[in-house]
Amino acid sequence: MKWDDFSAWGRKVADWAQDYHLTVGDRPVRAQSRPGDMLNALPRTPPEQGEGMEAIFADFETKVLPGITHWQHPRFFAYFNSNAAAPSVLAEFLASAIAPQCMLWQTSPAATEMETRMMDWLRQALDLPEQFQGVIQDSASSATLAAVLTMREKALSWQGNQQGLFGQKALRIYCSSEVHTSIDRAIWVAGIGQQNLIRVPIKGDWRGMDPDALEAAIQADIAAGHQPAGVILCVGGTGTGATDPVDQVLDVAEKHGLYTHVDAAWAGSAMICPEYRHYWPGVERADSIVFNPHKWLGVQFDCSAHFLKNPDDLVQTLAISPEYLKTHGHDGIINYSEWSVPLGRRFRALKIWFLIRTYGLDGLRQRLRNHVNWSNQLHEKLKSEPDFQIVTPPMWSLWTFRYLPQGATDPDALNLALVNAINDDGRIYLTQTRVDGDLVIRFQAGQFETTEADVMMAFDVITEIARNLK
Ligand code: PLP
Repeated sequence: MKWDDFSAWGRKVADWAQDYHLTVGDRPVRAQSRPGDMLNALPRTPPEQGEGMEAIFADFETKVLPGITHWQHPRFFAYFNSNAAAPSVLAEFLASAIAPQCMLWQTSPAATEMETRMMDWLRQALDLPEQFQGVIQDSASSATLAAVLTMREKALSWQGNQQGLFGQKALRIYCSSEVHTSIDRAIWVAGIGQQNLIRVPIKGDWRGMDPDALEAAIQADIAAGHQPAGVILCVGGTGTGATDPVDQVLDVAEKHGLYTHVDAAWAGSAMICPEYRHYWPGVERADSIVFNPHKWLGVQFDCSAHFLKNPDDLVQTLAISPEYLKTHGHDGIINYSEWSVPLGRRFRALKIWFLIRTYGLDGLRQRLRNHVNWSNQLHEKLKSEPDFQIVTPPMWSLWTFRYLPQGATDPDALNLALVNAINDDGRIYLTQTRVDGDLVIRFQAGQFETTEADVMMAFDVITEIARNLK
């Protein structure tokens, strides 16, 4: 393909994308394909001769699209949303057209400096103190890995990278039972060992870590000769929105001088609204905080905002500077690749800039508030249905329920059958989790273009399909 032909195809793609977003609500949300459909549609061997874009594009529509689950569907109520608001898609298009690799300041000064400014806009949006500086990571998993590596290195006086962990005291990291599996993986990758990730019991409606149990676990570890290294707090956990009592957990961590990282991957976006900030009182005392603008805020995937009270700890943990990466003659600049595990970096700040300028913080707040309010209305409606039980109350826009008709003998199997039947139907998309061992169905609203009618339609779909279950 010649660049001369690019604009015609670019227009076609833009028209297609606009039409897709305007009509995606007419498609089944979850892909209705069977395992192997896509593999069978693709030739086993690559073509020796090039093909025209016409044929490639036609195959995209007829072969690829049926196997796509539509994350931009207004009735995507599963997992957490991964939004792609229109201006952020445009920014991503531009970023992929210029395709800079932004590992160092000098490899694209504008990208680095825009990242600094955008992270500061987000800091202000969340009302975090000025002391926090931010970096864009590719995922919350990477931010958490970076934080766990920092915990490890700080606890070992920055000797772990050089000497490994052999012969060291067991490093202990604490979290609740409700954290995302990215925490486990960070512990594995950091070589700390799953047995040294201590799951502190939870209590209360928010299913948050019990600070007294945290204190007891730390004391027991010290007595046993282990070395406490850090605490990972959960604000808006994946299953039920579990949220630790942030101030009380930080009291305990501070008392023992432990590094703290807050995983607010989903719920962090909601903190642009002052009325939700009571969910993380005292968060300004944490060392590290991550949230994903690519989830609820509307920034096209991927974009993870990682705030650090003292970036030097992270840089001391991760920076490595061979001659070929040195930037001579530029003092005081930031090379963000020293703040993250991967070296190469995309130009992600551009899509934050496009998004915030287009909607303003107020426009974004209004969307989030609507999601929370509509989800709460749906919760109230389902709560009053006799055959349904609310299992966990709304945390922002997330709550869980079970279908429990009289005489149900195997509620787990029944609810799994229900969630599968709902997703086969295709009008809405839900996923399940477990709460205290029971299989429950999650509901969360957060799609950028969802409407009140979309959310309320879930009531009709859930009740209709439940009552028709064989
Ligand atoms: N933390 C929480 C609470 C999550 O819900 C998720 C993903 O849904 C993650 C971390 C991992 O996010 P990422 O896919 O950005 O690594």
